Formats: sequence, structure tokens, C-alpha cells
Amino acid sequence: MKYVGAHVSASGGVENAPINASKIGAKAFALFTKNQRQWFTNPLTDENILQFKGNCKKLGYQLEHILPHDSYLINLGSPDKDALDKSRKSFLDEMMRCELLGLKLLNFHPGAHLKEITEEECIKRIAESINICLAKTKGVTAVIENTAGQGSAIGYKFEHLRAIIDLIGDKTRIGVCLDTCHTFTSGYDIKSEKGYDATMKEFETIVGFNYLRGLHLNDSKKDIGTRVDRHESLNQGLLGEPVFKRIMNDPRFDNMPLILETPDDTLWENEIRMLYSYVR
Ligand code: MN
Ligand code: MN
Ligand code: ZN
Repeated sequence: MKYVGAHVSASGGVENAPINASKIGAKAFALFTKNQRQWFTNPLTDENILQFKGNCKKLGYQLEHILPHDSYLINLGSPDKDALDKSRKSFLDEMMRCELLGLKLLNFHPGAHLKEITEEECIKRIAESINICLAKTKGVTAVIENTAGQGSAIGYKFEHLRAIIDLIGDKTRIGVCLDTCHTFTSGYDIKSEKGYDATMKEFETIVGFNYLRGLHLNDSKKDIGTRVDRHESLNQGLLGEPVFKRIMNDPRFDNMPLILETPDDTLWENEIRMLYSYVR
């Protein structure tokens, strides 16, 4: 069973996210549990929490199929001590918000070395950041997203994800999310059938599907290997339809959130319907 949804708005309160997801026929959804452009924000109220849980239940969303995303300001591998401290505090706050909402997953971009430290050193800092935050929380899995490798971002190779996982103490609370746009532009050919099979085989060998907690379904404005992160609406970019047809018929992606982060939210309802129509 596939659980397809989109990264919906939580404006006006987290409790609105499940309502917005339901309106577009989503069976899963992603959200920011706070304003993604701020380091810190008002704590969730009891009312927010109660209504969020109530709406999820009423509208049929299982907490395992909700994939919250952290703020884009956070860099868990920052070379700068103050920025690293601030990032760790903010990420811990995000994780605690998820815990309060009963959520199981927190999706984030691993971090960037800003050309001031090596990739290896950055990976160590990222893992240390995750370990610190896992130790202070319960029940929430840290879900590392692979990246396009834009700028100095870590996460553009499956080896990076594996290196981080290897350094995590509690392996039951670390997972990964693959973004189709990032996978493609970071250099993996998921467009051709042969390339798709080879990429998934490589993912299984290096990371392992047992760590996969979700997918981001995005077409790409940029071509393979460009290492540029520019999402496109489904079937309007350089990836095209075949990869999404394969994903919708691949049992390795059953029972996890499959989330659209495509740029035109007026198309989401159609994109979700189209994805389900691919299921044979
Ligand atoms: Mn992301
Ligand atoms: Mn993504
Ligand atoms: Zn992206």
C-alpha cells in the first residue's frame, strides 16, 4: 500500500496541516512544525497538540505516515562553533515538538561544511549533533535526506548517509529519506530502467532499505550530475514519468510517506491522483 501526500501548509497552527492534506486527497503529509525561517518560535500549546492529534485521527492519518521537516537554517555539521550550538539547540527543539505531537519521524538535510572543514569532519559533527539530540528525546527517528550536493552540502552520495549512520549510537532511531530530484541531480541515473535498478541495488548495498523511512517525489529542473536543487512539477522536468511509475509499483516503497515537494501546490491534488493511477 502506497501513502502519497505533499508538504502541506501548517499556517495558523500545526492542526491545520492534516486538514490541508485531506483537502487534496493525500494519504500522508509533510509539514513544518514551526516557521521554517526562524531559529526558535513559540512553544506548541496543549490546544495545538490536542487538535493536531484529533484531526489526524479523524481524517485517518497514521503518525508513521507524517514526515515533518526541520528548518532550513539548521546546519548540524557547521564548522562555526556558535552556529553549530544554535543548530543543535534548534534541532533539539524541533525534535521535542515532534515528540509532543506524537510524531515518529523528523526529516532534515544533513549539513554543509562551508569549505572550512573536510567532508569527513563535517560528517562527524553531523553524527555528534544527532546523537546529542537523540539522547535527550524519546520515540522520534532522525531521518537524513540525501541532497543534490549543492554548494558544500553533505549527503549527495549514499556513502555519506552510511558514514553518518555508522556513527549513530541508537540505530533504531536513525533513518533516511530519498528525494528523487536530489538523487538524480547528485548523479544517480534513476531515469532509465537500468539506472533505476542499479541505483536501488547500490542503495541497498551501501545504506540498506531497512533504514528507508520515506521518499520525496519531485521532478527536476536540472539534469543528472548538475548538483543543483531545483524541484519541478511531476512530468514537467528532466526526470519524467517512468521513474514515478516504477516507484508506485515498487513494494520497497510501501507503507511509508511518499511526499510531493513540487513547486505548484495547485497541482498537488492532480499529482496525487496521477501517481495512484500508475499502480498496476
Ligand atoms: Mn528537504
Ligand atoms: Mn526533499
Ligand atoms: Zn530539494
